[in-house]
Amino acid sequence: MALSYPDVQLFINGEWRPARSGKTIPVVDPATDEQIGTVAWAGKEDLDEALAAAAEGFRVWSRTSAYDRCKIMRKAAELLRERAESIAWMMTREQGKPLAQSRMETLGGADTIDWFAEEGRRAYGQVIPPRSPNVIQMTLKLPVGVVAAFTPWNFPINQVVRKLSAALTTGCSIIIKAPEETPASPAELIRCFADAGVPAGVVNLVYGIPAEISEYLIPHPIVRKITFTGSTPVGKHLAALAGKHMKRATMELGGHAPVIVTVDADVKKAVSLMVTHKFRNAGQVCVSPTRFLIENKVADEFLEGFTAAAKAIRVGNGLDPETEMGPLANDRRIPALEALIGDAVERGGKLVTGGNRIGNQGYFFEPTVLADVPTSARIMNEEPFGPVAVINRFDELDEAIAEANRLPYGLAAYAFTGSDRTATRLGLEVEAGMLTINHLGLALPEVPFGGIKDSGYGTEGGSEAIEAYLETRFVTRTA
Ligand code: NAD
Repeated sequence: MALSYPDVQLFINGEWRPARSGKTIPVVDPATDEQIGTVAWAGKEDLDEALAAAAEGFRVWSRTSAYDRCKIMRKAAELLRERAESIAWMMTREQGKPLAQSRMETLGGADTIDWFAEEGRRAYGQVIPPRSPNVIQMTLKLPVGVVAAFTPWNFPINQVVRKLSAALTTGCSIIIKAPEETPASPAELIRCFADAGVPAGVVNLVYGIPAEISEYLIPHPIVRKITFTGSTPVGKHLAALAGKHMKRATMELGGHAPVIVTVDADVKKAVSLMVTHKFRNAGQVCVSPTRFLIENKVADEFLEGFTAAAKAIRVGNGLDPETEMGPLANDRRIPALEALIGDAVERGGKLVTGGNRIGNQGYFFEPTVLADVPTSARIMNEEPFGPVAVINRFDELDEAIAEANRLPYGLAAYAFTGSDRTATRLGLEVEAGMLTINHLGLALPEVPFGGIKDSGYGTEGGSEAIEAYLETRFVTRTA
C-alpha cells in the first residue's frame, strides 16, 4: 500500500475544494518537526457556502427515513473499516500516537457509527393518556437542525465521529470545524460518509482560525445546535455565546481525573491498568488519570510499581511498531508541562522519574511521575494534558473523597478497592460524570460519555446522546 500524506481540502456541498482565498495552513509531523502537508483555511465566503449547503442538506436529510439514514451510515462504517490502515497511518503522522492506537481509534469510530446508526431508529416519542376520550396527545422527536461541531486534535476521528453520528442518525445536517493540527484523518472519515452516499450539504467540513469560525457560526441563524470538545476556558466562552443566541449546546471539556486506590485493592492490577491508561496518547486525553490518591499502607508498593513501569515505556516515533508512547501533538505542550513540573518541585513535590523533553527533534517528553505534591501546586489544580502522573497518599477514605471532589472538574474518576461498601460509597459520593471501579470501562458508544461541574454538560454516548440532537414537540388533536 503506497502511503502519502495529503494536502487537505474543505468539503462543502458535496465537493472537495480549496478555500476560495486559496489560503492554507501548514501541517507538521510532531515526531520529526517536518511539514508534511497543508490544510485549507476557510474564510467567511467558504463558511457562507457551508451554511447554505447545510440548510439545504437539513431539508433533504430530515426527510430521509431513519431506516435509510441507518443504511448509509452503516455503509460509511464499512468503508472506514476497509480504509483503516491508511487512515491510521495519516493519524500517526499528524498526531504522533502509536500506530496501534490510531488503528484502534479508527476501528472504534466504525463501531460508533454502527451503534448510532441503529439508535436513530429508536428515537421514540410518547402517546400520553388524555383527559378526554376523543383526544390523542403525543410527542414527536424531530431533528434540531443544522449543527456546528468543534473538535480537538487529541482524538482526530473519535471526537468527530461521536458528534457526526449523533447528528446524522437523528436527521440533522452538520458543519464540522475539525482540528488544523490533525486534519487528514477526520477528512478521510468524512470521505467515507460522502462515498457511502450521504447527500450533498448534509456533512460539511471546514478548517481555519478556530475563534473566527466559532464566532461566525454560533450566532448565525442557520445554526441551531453547538457541540464542542476542548478546554474548559474555551468551552465556557463558546457556551456563553451559544446562550446569548439561544442555541442548544453540548460541552465536553477538561478533566483532572482522580484515582483512588484503597488498602484492600489488587495493587498490581491497579498499577498495570493505570500505567497504560495514563500514558496512552502521551496523556493528552480528557479522561487521563492524573491525581493518584493511594491509601498509605500500599502507597510505596504502588509508587514503586508505577514508576518502574513508567520508566520501561518505549517512547518514539508512532510509526515504529516498538513504540508505546509517541511525541506530544504540538510544541506548545512542552513549555506548558515543564512549567507545571517545575512549580510542583518548587513547592516540595518529589520528581520520581522523567520531567524532561527528550532530544530536540520532535516533541518527545519523558513519562513523568511526581509524588507527595501539595495541593497548592499548579499541577494539582490545572489539567496537565501530558504524560505526568501525581502520586499522593491518604489515610482515611473521607480525605480521598474530599480531595477527589476538591476541583471544579468532574469528568472521569477511577477507583480500585476490594470492598463493596467502599465501591458503593464512591459511586454515590465522587463527583464525576464517569466512574470506573476495578477495571477500565469508559468510552464505549453505548455508555454515557460526559462531565459534570466545569467539565461540561451533555453526553456523547449511550441512549441519551441523541437527545441533544432532537427536539421534543407536542401535538394534541381531537377527532
Ligand atoms: P486550546 O484551549 O487553545 O484549544 C483546545 C481546542 O479548542 C483546540 O482544538 C482548539 O482548536 C479549540 N479552540 C480554541 N479556541 C477556540 C475558539 N474560540 N472557538 C472554537 N474552538 C476553539 O488548547 P490547546 O493548546 O490546543 O490544547 C491544550 C488544552 O486544551 C489542554 O490543556 C486541554 O485542557 C484542552 N483540550 C481538551 C481536549 C478534550 O478532549 N477535552 C482535547 C484537546 C485539548
